[in-house]
Amino acid sequence: MPPKKSRNPLAKTKGRQVSPEALEDVRRLLGDAPRQRDLLIEYLHLIQDEYAHISAHHLAALASEMKLSQAEVYEVASFYAHFDVIKEGETPPPALTVRVCEGIACEIAGAKNLINALKDALGDGIRVQPVPCIGACDSAPAAAVGQNRIGDADVETISNAINEGATTASIPAYTDLEAYISEGGYNAFKACQSGEKSPQDILEEIDQSGLRGLGGAGFPVATKWHFLIDNPRPAIVAVNADEGEPGTFKDRDILAFNPHQLIEGALIAAHVVGADAIYIYLRDEYPHVHQILKAEMAKLEADGMNGDIALHLRRGAGAYVCGEETALLESLEGKRGLPRNRPPFPANEGLFGRPTLINNVETLYCVTDIVRNGAQAYQDSGRPHFYSVSGRVKKPGVKLAPTGISVNDLIAEHCGGMADGHSFMGYLPGGASGGILPASMGDLPLEFGSLEKHGCFVGSSAVVILSDQDPIDDVVKNLVHFFEEESCGQCTPCRAGCEKLAHMLDADDWNDDLIRELAGAMQDASICGLGQAAANPVLSALNFFKGESK
Ligand code: SF4
Repeated sequence: MPPKKSRNPLAKTKGRQVSPEALEDVRRLLGDAPRQRDLLIEYLHLIQDEYAHISAHHLAALASEMKLSQAEVYEVASFYAHFDVIKEGETPPPALTVRVCEGIACEIAGAKNLINALKDALGDGIRVQPVPCIGACDSAPAAAVGQNRIGDADVETISNAINEGATTASIPAYTDLEAYISEGGYNAFKACQSGEKSPQDILEEIDQSGLRGLGGAGFPVATKWHFLIDNPRPAIVAVNADEGEPGTFKDRDILAFNPHQLIEGALIAAHVVGADAIYIYLRDEYPHVHQILKAEMAKLEADGMNGDIALHLRRGAGAYVCGEETALLESLEGKRGLPRNRPPFPANEGLFGRPTLINNVETLYCVTDIVRNGAQAYQDSGRPHFYSVSGRVKKPGVKLAPTGISVNDLIAEHCGGMADGHSFMGYLPGGASGGILPASMGDLPLEFGSLEKHGCFVGSSAVVILSDQDPIDDVVKNLVHFFEEESCGQCTPCRAGCEKLAHMLDADDWNDDLIRELAGAMQDASICGLGQAAANPVLSALNFFKGESK
């Protein structure tokens, strides 16, 4: 006789018992909509937002509610830094966390001192948490009090924010749907929908513009779109809004001030490659952007202007590796952000196994411009794009400049020169992973293909300016520490290599040969760009700053 089936849903869950109270909490938070596996990270956010941590009871209840194993839910929750998973017997963190950025721009602006001073000043009732780059490098040192991002932070500004209860995201004035339409917004997409511009017309326009992916890889955009043209339909467009590279914050401003130009570019892309859905994967460090996108996407859908292309917004959860396109797909599916081996390539088998086009925010923003004004206008204006400039300059920020501008010109023409009391010593041309170049190479064009022969690359155009007051050893240690923390751990050359590299940098004298050997192994054998690039800053220090490094 077969065993009698239980009607009690709690009885199905293996492992930890599910408490009725926790299950009730989870059901209340999730609401009545059907449970979706790909929304697991969104559900975890709901719990984290409500309770400022995720208890073992809530994890077990969520697993039961979603009919997943507890291990599966736990492995996802524990992968992401923004979830505080608390086991039985452990003390939950305080309700309020102050996240202090310890990225390279913030470190040279005094983040360590700020962290220590805050710990002394705020006591145990508020958690002070050092975190990787929060994308506010132009106002370093930066911190977030709850969701309230504070630039040029010190103990006083943070204490004031806490005392005033200012813990929510502040929304800047931005171009909303009405304003965007009044300026001719969405006319380019309408021209695609009406057939005035065919997909082939648009592909040719993008091809002639020479637009390359501006998230870091620099792959020709038209070529990438072409890969999907003959694949089965419907495809999916995934927008990579997870700029986590230390020093990068340009997409933040596009999203916060002109979100519809990005969305229009994504709709055009979806139209060309035959996609029926757009997923925007937004880094969780931009809560103000999340609110803006949510509101504006809802307006767009209410007006039906997105046609038959569904719009989805997803929150990251504090994992740099999810900026890697296949890790991003995994995360969008509600899993740990582990980069996939390729093939299959996303164009053939991407999100949910469907052909997927993945483009960065700025790339799609430029697509709108190009379709609107033509490839020639884009070329004639110098293929302008956004550089994130931070560090020792008078006026850091997002700078619109012609592609290929040099760092010397960026500093002089766009940043008001070096900060008072600082002499230009060197620069990161492409964030933490793009290597470090000396000031003597400040005339090189910041462009894809121009820095590679020096072991560097422009990547996402995150330019961090260093001065004579920034010891190169400290800079390198900060960057390697970042990679060590952010490695997903999936492959040994990266996981063990980052750890070993960090250890070797602590030695009184660097063993150059051993460092180079290890760097070679990491470059050759790591699965994704994180491990392949993690040693770049060290190699740059050995190549260009010998005598200044150990
Ligand atoms: Fe993960 Fe590093 Fe391997 Fe990339 S290289 S898959 S981040 S362990």
